[in-house]
Amino acid sequence: MTKTDNPNWSPFGFETRMIHAGTPPEPVTGARQTPIFQNISYVFYDADHAASLYNLQTFGFLYSRLSNPTVAALEERIASLEAGRGATCCASGHAAQMLAFFAFMEPGDAFISSTRLYGGSITQFGKTFKKFDWHCHFVDFDEPENVRKALTPKCKAIFCESLANPGGVVTDLEAIAGIAEEAGVLLIVDNTMATPYLCRPFEWGAGLSIHSTTKFLSGNGTSLGGCVVDSGTFDWAKNDKFGGLTKPEPAYHGLTFYETFGDLAFTTHAHAVGLRDLGATMAPMNAFQTLLGIETLSLRIERHCQNAQKVAEFLDAHDLVDWVSYAGLKSSPYHALAKKYLSGGFGSVFTFGVKGGYQMGMKVVENCELCSHLANVGDTRTLILHPASTTHRQLTDEQALAAGAGPDVVRVSVGLETLDDITADLDQALKTAAEQTKKAAE
Ligand SMILES: *Cc1c(COP(=O)(O)O)cnc(C)c1O
Repeated sequence: MTKTDNPNWSPFGFETRMIHAGTPPEPVTGARQTPIFQNISYVFYDADHAASLYNLQTFGFLYSRLSNPTVAALEERIASLEAGRGATCCASGHAAQMLAFFAFMEPGDAFISSTRLYGGSITQFGKTFKKFDWHCHFVDFDEPENVRKALTPKCKAIFCESLANPGGVVTDLEAIAGIAEEAGVLLIVDNTMATPYLCRPFEWGAGLSIHSTTKFLSGNGTSLGGCVVDSGTFDWAKNDKFGGLTKPEPAYHGLTFYETFGDLAFTTHAHAVGLRDLGATMAPMNAFQTLLGIETLSLRIERHCQNAQKVAEFLDAHDLVDWVSYAGLKSSPYHALAKKYLSGGFGSVFTFGVKGGYQMGMKVVENCELCSHLANVGDTRTLILHPASTTHRQLTDEQALAAGAGPDVVRVSVGLETLDDITADLDQALKTAAEQTKKAAE
């Protein structure tokens, strides 16, 4: 869908929406910054008002497990940045994935996912979802025909990351969306690594997009959170796969979400059933921190990308580095896809392979002084990790390799520090690690 035929496209520019969407001055006090509504319940005007809220006949606040004014402001802002119809914020990126599938998956159902995923998502889809009798088939999306071949009658959705963590891999969203459309299934895109600044998945045919707001959206490592954005353009009634939204809901007197709420069906369901019953609600304080983070998103992402490009080039030319997998390098097999799907940069999380394998990978990370050795991405600080011994260690060797987390792989999330300080730290860590590895072998 192009900008012009998206009914949710705002006339305001990205930077304006990043600062203003969802947050007019607070009407009672005039407070310009959005208040933290650290509050659980909301007084009913009278019994009729209470009844209409409970029956979903009136939009409003009832109990903060379902919705809260500070969280709602963040939902409106993220929806606006991606030109979606609505958004549902929740406790974490993993909760967002759970909420997205929960709306339509039944026991015995299946979906197809890319193998290039955040390590925790592979475990969530492959292990925990199995307990609900939801079946994830992992395939290599580099060859989109693999996705078509994996389709089965039970398949309801296709899942991938736009810019994949950790390998700097870019998915051919338009090709995958075409396959989803033909099969009548939903395309869900995890847009965490790209952020809405670099990529808007609905322009390429995604039905839902997912974020771990924990990362670049909050931006400074303070607040866990997740979000599901609904394009509002997916036809849930096109076949009988999406009964959760098209069949009568007994808990709401037989109301049918799609018939009643139209393009807000998913978002209403995700609050009124998903958050109500799964309870993975975002805290108002975290919504506030994330709103603050988003105010500077474009500035941060631009600088993240500039620094990452230079760090990738530095490592690519380094004697102790075997390879660099960054979509911003012309040598990357994903460079052409990245230019098509990402606007304004190539992201700031990527991997590189050290000469010397597992031991050397661990030592490089241990010897960093400025770069923080930890499991997170999208912080203002430069973060570094050896996935094979940490985030991806629960995977089999085969799964780890398929996810781009082999023994020699080091992942870096390039921060906003002075560029020369980042490269100097990586340089000394590589050199010290090489000496230590050499000594240990003697
Ligand atoms: C971090 C991350 C997640 C999980 O998010 P949490 O907020 O940690 O639950 C999912 N997908 C991607 C791409 C991530 O980076």
